[in-house]
Amino acid sequence: MNQGGTAEVAFRPSTGMKGFFVFKTDSNVMLSGRLTASEMIQRESSGGEYVNNLIWDPTHECMPLAEQQKLQGERLADCVRRIYGHVPFYTEKMDAIGLLPGDIKTLEDIVKLPFTDKQDMRDQYPYGTFAVPLSDIIRIHASSGTTGKQKVVGYTSKDIEIWSECCARSLRSAGMTKGDILHVAYGYGLFTGGLGLHYGAERLGATVIPVSSGNTMRQIQILVDFQPTAIACTPSYALHLADALSTYGVTKDQLHLKYGIFGAEPWTIAMKEQIEEKLGLKAFDIYGLSETMGPGVSMSCVCSDDLHIQADHFIAEIIDPETHQPLPPGETGELVFSSITKEGTPLLRYNTHDLSSLHYEPCACGRTTVRMEKVTGRADDMLIIRGVNVFPTQIEAILLSYGEVEPHYMIIVDRVRNLDFMEIQIEMTRAFFSDSVREIENLERKLNADVQSVLGISAKITLVEPRSLPRSEGKAKRVIDNRKN
Ligand SMILES: [Zn+2]
Repeated sequence: MNQGGTAEVAFRPSTGMKGFFVFKTDSNVMLSGRLTASEMIQRESSGGEYVNNLIWDPTHECMPLAEQQKLQGERLADCVRRIYGHVPFYTEKMDAIGLLPGDIKTLEDIVKLPFTDKQDMRDQYPYGTFAVPLSDIIRIHASSGTTGKQKVVGYTSKDIEIWSECCARSLRSAGMTKGDILHVAYGYGLFTGGLGLHYGAERLGATVIPVSSGNTMRQIQILVDFQPTAIACTPSYALHLADALSTYGVTKDQLHLKYGIFGAEPWTIAMKEQIEEKLGLKAFDIYGLSETMGPGVSMSCVCSDDLHIQADHFIAEIIDPETHQPLPPGETGELVFSSITKEGTPLLRYNTHDLSSLHYEPCACGRTTVRMEKVTGRADDMLIIRGVNVFPTQIEAILLSYGEVEPHYMIIVDRVRNLDFMEIQIEMTRAFFSDSVREIENLERKLNADVQSVLGISAKITLVEPRSLPRSEGKAKRVIDNRKN
């Protein structure tokens, strides 16, 4: 890798799908060559590490920012024309503020457009958000909600093409190539995780094992016997798999995994490091939500934990959660997406409520696309405890700094005599569990002091036996808020 290096990539998009690349590393080793969009070079730099110049679609991923934004403006204007008069709820929203499609000409005009929220999608259940006749839709997905109706999305054949391309770009961004074997342990079905990665890996030319979620014993058997080089699942399930290896007498050395493609829930860098160590792979963050497409909206790369957004298909904005005003680059707020090329269910300014920030500096990997900071929380995951804003991932980051506990925890919030009360149950490691009661009490005290100093509120820390907290095969459930009952 070339972390923090001085890598430069020059690309001339005028040559169409073929481009001339110059990749300069720290040691001034020049790698250059004529690449097609689907070729890659992977050369050993003088440091003995690999310099990855793994870009699936240089035309779009390395486009100068000004050209990128011009294209976004054109596609936004086209998207609004496809929506107005075809999606009644958007037409009504625009009419209500006196906005016509012709008012949207460039990227800057995006601020004139109304926002979309998950409630809009629920209100339009099932097909009210579709911008084309149902006969032009070739696939339907829906996002699971714990409350209310599902958010239903439709894809035309072009939408599926673009989605596959975005996932292929993402997998290549991790370093995967045609020779890799991807074990997809995301669920297949209405959830977009399984089929999204599946089509992306096929587009890349890699081999796909469509395992789907669940049945940990079978997952481990396939990991050992089929020798996949990459796995895609939620980060919490990756940890669960890692912990389950020993139960079946398997060590990480028996696995052939090189890449982990993890997403669909917020997770921390500390958790990433734990997964990498336990499974012996390099972990990457893939982001997406079914409302905007599914996985592949953005992806981290070999040079950065921030995620490159597929900017030719999605316009990202960060807004202030209270005022809904756009925030400048680098500031944290709610992440909003407009899916400008989507035909089936194009969305304008969809508020994901995920918290992130945007960064426009070019990346050492050569991509020029805007990057979003790793999502570590959702505005609606935020707990307000005695007036203090608390994110589960803040607690996770504290726990993972201790070697005596596992990254499996549950936050239980209650109201006792009108006062909020938080308990954090954390699993001990097997080794620490055998220690004396005094040691355990000492650790509980240390954790309590850390939580108090980071969050500014105290919590009851309860260390529990290894493997005693419930495991999830999809998205992890970390919080039980009894105040809502
Ligand atoms: Zn990068």
